[in-house]
This record gives sequence, C-alpha cells and structure tokens, in this order.
Amino acid sequence: MNTKNQSSPDNSLHYPLGDVLPESGTTMEVAPGVYWLRMRLPFALDHINLWLLRDELDGVQGWTIIDCGIANDETRTSWEQIFTSQLQGLPVLRVLVTHMHPDHIGLAQWLCERWHVPLWISMTDYLTAQWLSHKEGGAAVGMRAGGGGSADHFQKHGLSAPEDLEKIRARSNYYSNMVPGVPRQYRRIIDGEVIVIGGHGWRVIMGYGHAPEHASLFCKELGVLISGDMLLPRISTNVSVYDADPDADPLGLYLDSLDQYLPLPDDTLVLPSHGKPFTGMKPRIEQLKTHHDERLADTLGACKKPAHARELVPVLFKRELDIHQMTFAMGEAIAHLNYLLRRGRLRRQLCDDGVLRFSVV
Ligand SMILES: [Zn+2]
Repeated sequence: MNTKNQSSPDNSLHYPLGDVLPESGTTMEVAPGVYWLRMRLPFALDHINLWLLRDELDGVQGWTIIDCGIANDETRTSWEQIFTSQLQGLPVLRVLVTHMHPDHIGLAQWLCERWHVPLWISMTDYLTAQWLSHKEGGAAVGMRAGGGGSADHFQKHGLSAPEDLEKIRARSNYYSNMVPGVPRQYRRIIDGEVIVIGGHGWRVIMGYGHAPEHASLFCKELGVLISGDMLLPRISTNVSVYDADPDADPLGLYLDSLDQYLPLPDDTLVLPSHGKPFTGMKPRIEQLKTHHDERLADTLGACKKPAHARELVPVLFKRELDIHQMTFAMGEAIAHLNYLLRRGRLRRQLCDDGVLRFSVV
C-alpha cells in the first residue's frame, strides 16, 4: 500500500492505452495474452490493478492470476463475474502474488481453494503473511505478551497523542482482518528465475524496501514489466519501518532495488499495481530518486536540532493525515531517519522521556 501523492505529473511518462480503464467485472488486453482488471479498495488508494495471463500448465490450457485483491465480498463478487464472463470457459491454473500486502494477497487463499491451484510467491513474503495473518499465533502472540506492537514503536518515535495511540492499538488485527489466511502450501519463486507463462519467459526481479521480498516480472518478448508496487506512475511507493524490525533501512533497500530496472529496454510497458500502464521507466526512476533526495535533505534540515520522527511528519507530509495515513507517514519518516543514521549523517539518542531523537552529525 502506498499513501502519498507524488509531485507534478511529468511529460516523460506516457500512457499508451490512454484514459480507458477496464470496468468492474471486465478485462482489457494490454499485450498479447495479458489482461488488465481493476478491483476497488476501501482506502484513499481506491483501486488495485490485477492481471490475468493466458497460460498452459502441465498440458492444460487456462489462466494465471497475478495478485488477488482484498478479502471482502465485493472483490469476491467481482472475481466471480470475471470467471463467468472473461475466462473463455478455461480454468485458473495458478495464482502468483507479487508481495504480502493485503490488497495483493488478501484473496489468495480463497482463489487457490476455489480453483485447487497453488500460490506462487517469494518465501519471505509467504512466511511474513503466514505470521501476520494468525489471529491467535504468529505476530498476535507477541502483541498479547506486551511485546511492542506499532503503538509502542511509534511512541518511541514521538507519537504521543493518547487518542492516536489508542486507535493504533485498536488496529492490532488490521492485517489479519484483511488477510484471513494464506494457503498451507506455496511454490517459492526466486530472484532471477524465469517462469514460463503462456509460452513466454517472465524473469523474476526481486525488490526490497516496500515489502520483505517483492517480485516483479519482466517479459522481454512482450516488452512488459509487471512492476507490482515497486514502480508506480503517480505516487511514490511506500517505504516504511515497522515495529518488527525497528532499525531497518527500507529506503536504502528500495533505492538500490530501483537500479535493477535500469537495464530494461526504454520502451518497456510497465504494468503497475496502482494507476495506469505507462512507458518511461527510466525518467520515472530518476523522479523517484530526486523525490527521496529532497526528502532526505528536508530530514537533515529538520534535524539541525534534535528531532523525533513525529516532528518530521509535517515536514515530509504537508497535508492533513487520518490515522491510517499517519501510520504510513510515521513509518516513512523513520525510514528517512534510519537511512541517514546508517550512513553516518545523523546520530540517535534515547532521551529521558523514552523518545528517540536524531540530530545532524
Ligand atoms: Zn504493497
């Protein structure tokens, strides 16, 4: 999931399909055998793009689904419409998920059971989804034992409004409500692996910083990249530090991961999870790097005297935030602080009030 609006639109990006969008319950062919569908999301981010690829597996004709949508009745109904009207009477053969966020993996268990097919996903994202989706075991155990959680994590970074902390505590089942479960088995996908879908090779490009191990898929023959959330045309990918790994450097991982797309051909059609298919991957990568450079400069400016992440939020996000957006904004502010801390540009101090403050070295 991603929250914030990226600066101004840019002429160097092109949207070759124009403004036409697939209606709910329908698909649109965007490359030979590659179909685009959209599902609604109950967030500020109002939709997710999913992809249906014409396929053949073990001699059986059918379809591969890329990403699932969130687990709710509306999305299930939308899928049923697709199954009835768009599959040419053929079955779904497998479900491939780019990463473990609820809008991508939410309905994976339902889809895999519905069609008796395997889930293809990176191991790190599979295990993370397993761990977070347990209502009783997994991550929930640590929460019940008082072992941190998001509220404590953000409190340590200066979030102090009791009503905000209370709302965050009340959301401790947030993930498991949207991802009620994942299939018991999975097929692990690996960086660099070439997956044959519909007679074409799709190379897995693993990216880091947005999700634990996010898979993008590049097909040289078709000139198409299914980018997931790693490259989006209008919003910058959310890069957050979570309570389970509070010293993580997701921004560094994300910026490094972007370089993997630079060798791909300039005319590659990028199929993002949010927004419209576009070309202009390299200028987009440049924009994203510039965007984060500016945010890092703002961060250093804010830390001329010791500052905590909550104080950085209005510097980085100049608009009103609801509690959902505030958790992303806090995660992202900590990501910028941790990036600079790791590179020796900031120092960190645990103050008497239990809050971590950062200052320029
Ligand atoms: Zn995501």
